[in-house]
Amino acid sequence: MWEELQLHIEQLAGKAQKRTLVKTESDGCFIHMDGRHLFNLSSNNYLGLANDERLIHASIEATRRYGVGATASRLVVGNHPLYEQAEEALIRWKGCEAALIVNSGYTANIGILSSLAGRDAIIFSDKWNHASIVDGAILSRAEVRRYRHADMDHLETLLKKAERHKRKIIVTDTIFSMDGDVAPLRDLVMLKETYGAMLVVDEAHASGVYGKNGEGMAHELQLAQHIDIHMGTCSKALGAYGAYVTGKRVFIDYLMNTMRPFIFTTALPPSVLGAICAAVDIVQHEITLRHHLHALSNYFRTRLQQVGFHIGESTTHIVPIIVGDNERALAFSAQLRERGIAAVAIRPPTVPEGTARIRFSLMATMTNQQIDWALSHIFEVGKEMGLIA
Ligand code: PMP
Repeated sequence: MWEELQLHIEQLAGKAQKRTLVKTESDGCFIHMDGRHLFNLSSNNYLGLANDERLIHASIEATRRYGVGATASRLVVGNHPLYEQAEEALIRWKGCEAALIVNSGYTANIGILSSLAGRDAIIFSDKWNHASIVDGAILSRAEVRRYRHADMDHLETLLKKAERHKRKIIVTDTIFSMDGDVAPLRDLVMLKETYGAMLVVDEAHASGVYGKNGEGMAHELQLAQHIDIHMGTCSKALGAYGAYVTGKRVFIDYLMNTMRPFIFTTALPPSVLGAICAAVDIVQHEITLRHHLHALSNYFRTRLQQVGFHIGESTTHIVPIIVGDNERALAFSAQLRERGIAAVAIRPPTVPEGTARIRFSLMATMTNQQIDWALSHIFEVGKEMGLIA
């Protein structure tokens, strides 16, 4: 039995897909990694809030006031007062009827889909959706149809064939995490209305970054009211941890009563809720940071494209350089590390076979000079590796 597991690991190593942990210590837009101080182009800390003094202070104060652990699940005795404060702030921010904080983005997606969809339901999921959506759909026991990435004709064909299903659920990331492209939300809203489906969106990478007050991509595109269920994480641009679900009061009440990853787990520690409360407040006012991040991202993408890198369809602060081969992606990442840049290689199964890449993610706290410096190294490595002329 152990030999089989060993063999599995060796097979992964043979395909350059074996993962190992590296000790990291984040320091704003730098990171200590493997004993080196590197410019961090791999973090989801898009607004730099993970190191913000105001969040740190709120987190410490929450611990002093309410203790380290929540001591029980929320429905038992773990629902400390900061939950109500955070959920009310979320309702005001997102302009929705109700909000629920859950322990992580991963459990949010597992929970939403497995609560909402049963054996008689059908889930339509974009092929590039995050693993937590894939897993949630499997766990729900509903029929699952994966439509080709952002292909609305394919989705419509599948919807047409699903007339007998009473509950139809369309689910999509708003910004795709490994490609940085944006889901066709307007078309998705049209289809969901035509075919009587519900639409669930995952704003993990858009919360805090898009929308006038950082509400997410649905708000940016003025479609928020047409989307049934919004989910987002507090672990990326919000700099903390955990996730939120927002929507109608009836849906949030339903989740509280049926969502197993909400019911059967200890509540988040007060320190995390303290940071979430501070982040939800701060993020709404960080308009300058958001503008700077968009300007930096536009510049970064344009420069990479000009010299001939393949960056897919990215239009956001997440920018891949698609290399193809696992070994080459690892070599690219290693060369950048030698030059002082942390940019992690993303390989299958996180991305489809043959599309290994470097996933760059930018932070609003980076300067134009830093990005120019990073670009010059990316260009040099790209040339050395024959990826660009
Ligand atoms: N959804 C998407 C699109 C994600 O990229 C991630 C995490 N990378 C998650 C959900 C999971 O969120 P969390 O890390 O808070 O569990």
